[in-house]
Amino acid sequence: MFRFKIWPAALCFYLNVIIFSKADNFTYDSNPTVALLQKYIQINTTTYNDLGPAVKFWKNLAAEEGLKLKKYVYVKGMPVLVIKWPGSDPTLSSIMLNSHMDVVPAALEDGWIIPPFSGQISDGKIYGRGSQDMKSVSIQYYEALKRIKEKNITLLRNVYMTLMPDEEVGTVAGMQKFLQSKEFKAMNVGFELDEGGAVNLPVLPVLYQDKAVWQIIVECRGTAGHGSSFQPTNSTAVGKCYNVATNMFQYRDEQYQIFLSSPANDSSLYTSVNLNILSGGSANNVVPNLVRLTYDIRLNTRVKESDFQQQLENLIYSAGDNITITYISRNPQSPATIANSSNPYWTAISDAAKDMGIPVLPAIPSGSTDARHVRLAGVPALGLSPQINTPALLHAVNEYLGVNTFLNGINFYEKAIYNLANIPAGQASTNPSVYLTDTTN
Ligand SMILES: [Zn+2]
Repeated sequence: MFRFKIWPAALCFYLNVIIFSKADNFTYDSNPTVALLQKYIQINTTTYNDLGPAVKFWKNLAAEEGLKLKKYVYVKGMPVLVIKWPGSDPTLSSIMLNSHMDVVPAALEDGWIIPPFSGQISDGKIYGRGSQDMKSVSIQYYEALKRIKEKNITLLRNVYMTLMPDEEVGTVAGMQKFLQSKEFKAMNVGFELDEGGAVNLPVLPVLYQDKAVWQIIVECRGTAGHGSSFQPTNSTAVGKCYNVATNMFQYRDEQYQIFLSSPANDSSLYTSVNLNILSGGSANNVVPNLVRLTYDIRLNTRVKESDFQQQLENLIYSAGDNITITYISRNPQSPATIANSSNPYWTAISDAAKDMGIPVLPAIPSGSTDARHVRLAGVPALGLSPQINTPALLHAVNEYLGVNTFLNGINFYEKAIYNLANIPAGQASTNPSVYLTDTTN
């Protein structure tokens, strides 16, 4: 999941002159596709919940289409599902349509107007956790492929739907393991399509790179003692962490200026820094010997990891002695997928959007998706969710998706999948990594 920056007013004005479908008021009760999404939302797949019911749900859907669902478990309780839609030429590289089964937690008492796992429809909107992020997309992939099949169209390339168990908690048991597996290798993936996010504009952001996620715990140790003792500030754990925080805030302020001047669709130019957990101390009248600061950092995509690490460690270690850094996460930088017509996969996606009258906008989000791992594995990936004119409510209270937006999204995927899976042999390189570029050089 990710969020975009606020879009500038000028862009909004320009794009709002384009007219798009508005909500109708008929009832959706009898629409089996809508009912399917409601049913999927009703399965509470909050990360670490039993995914058994979701596996069964997908197994049944695969069986309805005469397809086999493969389940791979690399970490107990974290199944990775793969549904293969065979193409006419299995020697060609395949198309992977990825989504994740898990959702972030939601509870009625958080302020939901409708129970978060009910999938109820109100005022033309399907409410529920996962309606945007990203159960709707999984159903859209499925319905689009089903329609293509019903039209007796055989796609040229194999298409795989993959469903991951743990995207919301760092994808360690799912995508990261899967990418190293022989099963993934055997799929011969030439291109991966992943998630994007809703934007309240008539434009489709297409994500072509993700920022690397670094998370660190800084521990400052200093002179402890009675609450009445009076040590020099720089010798105390709190004083040292204060110095660390001051250095980091100074760096943060510099980056914030870059953020302010960055285009709305490009979060690649700045490194975001947030101090998210402060902990330490045991009693009102004891000077603590240990204080911890936990930071979430998203690297600008141009910086080399080794250079940034050195800069970061300088900022922290210069704050005093007895300071340590523990890396919770230190993702490598991932390459960018080429986002122009020299990449046939890009063309396939943007042509599908063009057919729907939707302008596409290449974008780099402030957060990150599973696609960064796919690109690191040498496979070009693009991320999108066809949720235009929709407030971004990923991870938020009262997450919803307009029913029409959901249904229009199936039309989009039908075109996009058709284009992707029919790229002729000669038009896409057999080496998928040629559609990736390293931006740190
Ligand atoms: Zn997501």
